[in-house]
Amino acid sequence: MFEEKTIAAIATAQSAGGIGVIRVSGSKATEICDRVFSGISQKKLSDSVGYRAYFGKVSDGGKDIDECVATVFRAPHSYTGEDVVEISCHGGLFVLKKALRAVFEAGATPASAGEFTQRAFLNGKIDLTQAQAVMDLINAHGEQSADAALATLEGALSSEIKGVASGLISASASLGAWVDYPDEDIEELKQDVLLDTLEKSKKKLEKLINGFDAGKTIMHGVNAVIVGKPNVGKSTLMNLLSGAQKSIVSQYAGTTRDAVENTVTLGGIVLHLTDTAGIRESDNPVESIGVEIARKKLDLATLVLAVFDSSEDLTREDFELLESCKGKICIAVINKCDLDAKNTRSEIEKYVENVVEISAKTGEGKDELAKCVANVLGTDKIDASSAILSDERQFYCTKEALKCVDEAIDALNCGVTLDAVNVMIDSAVNFLQSLTGEKAGESVVNEIFSRFCVGK
Ligand code: GDP
Repeated sequence: MFEEKTIAAIATAQSAGGIGVIRVSGSKATEICDRVFSGISQKKLSDSVGYRAYFGKVSDGGKDIDECVATVFRAPHSYTGEDVVEISCHGGLFVLKKALRAVFEAGATPASAGEFTQRAFLNGKIDLTQAQAVMDLINAHGEQSADAALATLEGALSSEIKGVASGLISASASLGAWVDYPDEDIEELKQDVLLDTLEKSKKKLEKLINGFDAGKTIMHGVNAVIVGKPNVGKSTLMNLLSGAQKSIVSQYAGTTRDAVENTVTLGGIVLHLTDTAGIRESDNPVESIGVEIARKKLDLATLVLAVFDSSEDLTREDFELLESCKGKICIAVINKCDLDAKNTRSEIEKYVENVVEISAKTGEGKDELAKCVANVLGTDKIDASSAILSDERQFYCTKEALKCVDEAIDALNCGVTLDAVNVMIDSAVNFLQSLTGEKAGESVVNEIFSRFCVGK
């Protein structure tokens, strides 16, 4: 049904820019755009071959709206796999919206969120892992997340998954032929060959699963919190990592009352970082609310940066903080290393394995902190250009496929009949094909694309 509609939307950001692009996709794309575009060459877009750009004007029938370049792509050699025209105007939102309205009046339908990419998927241009990578690439905040998303877009994950699936499919086909036609002269698939295929598939799936947490961190970053008693330098650390004055720094304890949030990149990883009020008992009701928020943020964060002042002895509040960091992924940041130190490191190490000494004021130790963050989150062991699972759906499909492969191996070793083993292999393949989208249900596909932005 989607083929019948020709869709259009602004494909660039919803704000002013040098250039703004209206993308039109569908079988009537050139015909519709001919109604709003007149090229100086007089050539009709509907007579054009693909990969051609035309300079001209976009108008609403009566009045010129803007000068523009119309680029024609012919199916299947376009982003969506359909005929596509991209009208590049000057990037003012008023002009773009006016031109888009003219395109609608000429016969196009407003595109829904992610509909261009959904069409690319439905037309077999990309699979579901690559479609998801488009959004990951758009949302990438750091070097590693962009590298990982690009690698997935270029097929790193789908070729890994398809490789495993095709090994299993050919094993299953041989097995099926032998099970279904026992009297025919079909060579029995040797058990050790089958086991070898299953073991190899298992290893590859396990590798993907083991890298999931780190991969997800690379792709989407983690929630991290800076905690510590007042005046240890939390806000100074926040500002150092932000590269900007995000939190108020002062020598007066209790200055930061509310949680201050910022997205920063450290060690190639995106941290959704919160600077909190200093955790201490307080009679001040406003400060107490801040302390309560800090405790909640500490509980919810994936990564805790617990800050201590190297120039002071540890206090009861420091020890309470160390206690509450137990069981969390935590780095103890001993700050103010530019001052005379009190040698509290060995005491802190009794509670927290990862300790870094820094000066948030001078920036000394920042690189070591970055390395430590990558190490505790496991991202330093991941090659961002390799196959990475980036979300829970992909993780679930891989885990279930692995379970089926495991069951098939056990069944084979226990002498269970080969047709039963074949059922398990088929289930594993089904999970892998739903990961890549070959067999994903319509609701799953719709759900994935609804998370996209309009125009993508
Ligand atoms: P917070 O209350 O934990 O957020 O602490 P602030 O960041 O507001 O810092 C408290 C005081 O310590 C301020 O006067 C900062 O200038 C000072 N400070 C923070 N970090 C350092 C550091 O690394 N070295 C030195 N010498 N002073 C620091």
